[in-house]
Parts: sequence; structure tokens; C-alpha cells
Amino acid sequence: MDRPRFMVMTYPAQGHINPALQFAKRLASIGADVTFVVPLSAYRRMAKGSGSEPEPEPLTPYGSAITFAPYSVDGYDDGFKRGGDMKHYSSEVKRCGSQSITDLVASGKNDGRPYCCFVYTLLLPWAGNSAAELGLPSVMLWIQPATVFDVYYLYFNGYADIIKETMSKRQSPTKTTLPGLSLEFGRRDLPSFMDAEDAYSFILPLFEEQFDMISKQNHQKSILVNTFDELEVEALRAVSDLNLIGIGPLIPSAFSDENDPSDKSFGCDIFHGSEGNKYIDWLNSMPKTTVVYVSFGSILDWSKQQMEEIAKGLLSYGRPFLWVIREKRDKVENDKDCDDDNDELVSCREELEKLGMIVPWCSQMEVLSNKSIGCFVTHCGWNSTLESLASGVPMVAFPKWSDQGTNAKLIEEEWKIGVRVKPNEDELVESEEIRRCLELVMGKENEELRRNGKKWKDLAKGAVKEGGSSDKNLKSFVAQMNHIS
Ligand code: UDP
Repeated sequence: MDRPRFMVMTYPAQGHINPALQFAKRLASIGADVTFVVPLSAYRRMAKGSGSEPEPEPLTPYGSAITFAPYSVDGYDDGFKRGGDMKHYSSEVKRCGSQSITDLVASGKNDGRPYCCFVYTLLLPWAGNSAAELGLPSVMLWIQPATVFDVYYLYFNGYADIIKETMSKRQSPTKTTLPGLSLEFGRRDLPSFMDAEDAYSFILPLFEEQFDMISKQNHQKSILVNTFDELEVEALRAVSDLNLIGIGPLIPSAFSDENDPSDKSFGCDIFHGSEGNKYIDWLNSMPKTTVVYVSFGSILDWSKQQMEEIAKGLLSYGRPFLWVIREKRDKVENDKDCDDDNDELVSCREELEKLGMIVPWCSQMEVLSNKSIGCFVTHCGWNSTLESLASGVPMVAFPKWSDQGTNAKLIEEEWKIGVRVKPNEDELVESEEIRRCLELVMGKENEELRRNGKKWKDLAKGAVKEGGSSDKNLKSFVAQMNHIS
């Protein structure tokens, strides 16, 4: 029988590409072929990472099972620049991306190798529609926790008022419960886009469009989720109208199912460091669980004031650290929001570099799995959170926006593998608070956190190994899609 053929489309952000590409690798490893569709700008950067233009090196050992179909976005083939017109960019991605889906579906039919399923990630509500109009079943790959999916679903299905009410209580915080979930949510625990006062609340309508589409178009109401049954038993069942399928954690094989020890990186770094592997050599020279790893993902920029507090906190804690400070992104000319270009993000760099190491980017999974790492100071992006859980590394949860507050709550209260920082009334996390959290997570009293770390690491690996929950879930999903087509 022919190998089933999938098309996977992702938004061109690091936190979207990483799990989508791991998903493609997982499909390939169980006998499917995958066409991976991204804008040309992201593809070029991915290709740069593997040292070959324009075709990235084959993704061993699945080589020809995964092919890339980059599409050009008019005017944005060098990527979207900070301060640019986001609305125009999004509409061009939509127009060019839809055309690409149409072309690929047609060529699949012409070659006698039609696609059986279209899988797409967040912020592409139009993509599922485009596939459905062409008669191709589409399924969303949700790249945040199932709990966050539930909260959005409930918001758009009758619970918006309750959630808005909780969000509005700034002076006298209250907590709310939501059906199917046993956690109590306060303002900081809910996705920040739901807060009318949040600077990014304009993103909420995109989620609304996405959830509308799910209820109209979704094939047999299935949603693939980058989580695993053991981690979110309750949340995966909280929405009875939909079938949430845990297929994660979507991380490279060397750190998950261990079937391919050479598969150590996501293979798609949008950012690149010039440090080579110096930081890994440095980590290798450090004793077990002594280094603090600090990274806030691929998008978030803290204010200069917050960066200074983090620097002071690390210095006052006084133990070695590896801190990822990304280089400044490209911006459009005359961007008024971006007047700090010539400033150093931290003023005491020299002093910091006597104690630890600062890099512009690193291979995060390799870092987290290094024995020297004692804790991860993280913004709680979902990939970072899952990667830390799957590596058994306790966290200092330092969230800012989007799903990060919910993830921080889960880290601290549900999975008990970390401590969440408390900002002051000006939303600043002060250096003493950072030091307090580091002492808690790295200190002798952290036995429980470490025990839980080991537990989650074993469960995460177990889920993706042959016969584990995510492995079984994915295989039965693929069999089902193959049968339908
Ligand atoms: N990442 C990395 N090196 C770094 C920083 C981040 O490889 O120096 C990866 C990290 O492993 C994760 C992704 O970038 O897979 C960031 O995704 P996440 O959801 O944590 O945060 P986002 O960037 O979307 O805010």
C-alpha cells in the first residue's frame, strides 16, 4: 500500500515551526510522507542553519519522506520586520499560503499521490478552510497545552463574561472555576489576549476565527495536541464536543523516544549563534545541577529595566549561569517603538561574564539535557515548558503574555516542578525576587521539585516510546486518515 501523504503548514515563528517539524518527523518515522509548507523567508533561515542553500539537508533518517514546499510572500521574502504593517503581512501570508495549498493539492492529484490530510498550526484560521474547500480533510495541531485550548474554547462558547470579569479585577483579585477543569484561575492565570487592556488583545479575534472554523470544518472534531495523556488527563477530556488527541511531547528523538540518537536539534533554527559549541564544552566542565539556564524564547523582549533586574538577580545569587540574550531583530526604518538600538540590553555585561556565559542562541534541548543544568528560568512558552519537563529540569516560571501565565500556573500548582516569580505593583520582577526563586529551586529544599522532574521526564519519554500513549494515539490517527482518503 502507498505511504499516506500529509501536508503540514505552520506559521513562520520558531515556537510554531519547532513542534510542527517534529510532528512531520514523527509522521515520517511511522511510515507517512510529509510536505512541509512554510513561507520562503523562514525556509531560507532554516536552510542557513544546515549550511546549504536553497535546499536544507535531508532530515535523517527520514530524508525523502519529508519534502519542503516554501512559498513566496510578496514583499516579505526577507521576513517580517519589527514595526512593519502586521495586517498587510498577515493578509499576504493568507493569499500566498492559500494559493500554495491549492497548487500542492492539484500537483498531488496529477502525480497520482494525493494528500490524505492537511495539518496546520495556530494563527492560520484560513488554512483549514482552504483545504476543506478543496475536499482535503484538515486537522489542527494545537501547540499550546490542552488546558489553554479548553480555556479559549470555553471563552468562545459561553464563558467570555465570567473570564472578562476575572480579568478586570486588578485591585481585588478573584479566582474563577471553569467546567471540566479543577484549577482555579485568577487574572494572571488566563491567556493575556483575553484581557481587554492587554496591548495585544487585537490577536483575540484570530483565535475566535480559529475556533469558529474548528466547529464548522474540523474533520470528525479531532484536534492534535502537543501534550501527552499522563500530563493533562483532565484537560484532554474537558471539552466533550471535541476529541483532543495527545501526541507529544514533540521534541527531537534523541531526547524523547531515543530511536534516533543523532536527532538532537529541531533542525530549523530561525536564529543562529556564532558561539559554535563553546557553551556545551563549558557546561560539560561544570558539576552536576549547578548551572542556571536563562532563556525567554524567540519572541519576547523584556524592557531594559527588567533586564537589569534579571542581571542583578543572577549576580546576587552568585552561581554560574548560561543566559540567552538574542541579538536585536531587524526593524523597518523609522520605527519609533524601537529607539534603543544602540543600547546594550544589560549594562554590567563584563561582571556577568565573569560568573556565567551569555550567548545569542543555543541548542536548547542539548542544554536542558546537560547534567550541569540545575534549573531553567523561563518565560514559560509552551515548547520551553515541555522541553524542561521532558528533561526533568525544575523551573523558575517568569511569564509575560499569551499562554505563558497559564503554563506558569500549571508548572507551579499542577505539575509541581517550579516556582513562579511575583512581580511588584509596577509589573516589574525585582532582583531580590529572582534571587529568592533561584534559592528555592536550586536549594537543598528542592527535593520535591527534583523528584517531580524525574517523574515527568520518565512519563514524557514513556508517552512517545513504542506502545506509549502518544505513540498509540498518533498511529491510530494516521490509520484513520489513511482509511478515509
Ligand atoms: N530555542 C532554542 N534556543 C534558544 C531559545 C529558544 O532552541 O536559545 C527554542 C526552544 O527550544 C523552543 C523554541 O525555541 O523550542 C521557543 O518556543 P517557546 O514556545 O518556548 O517560546 P516562543 O519563542 O514561541 O515564545
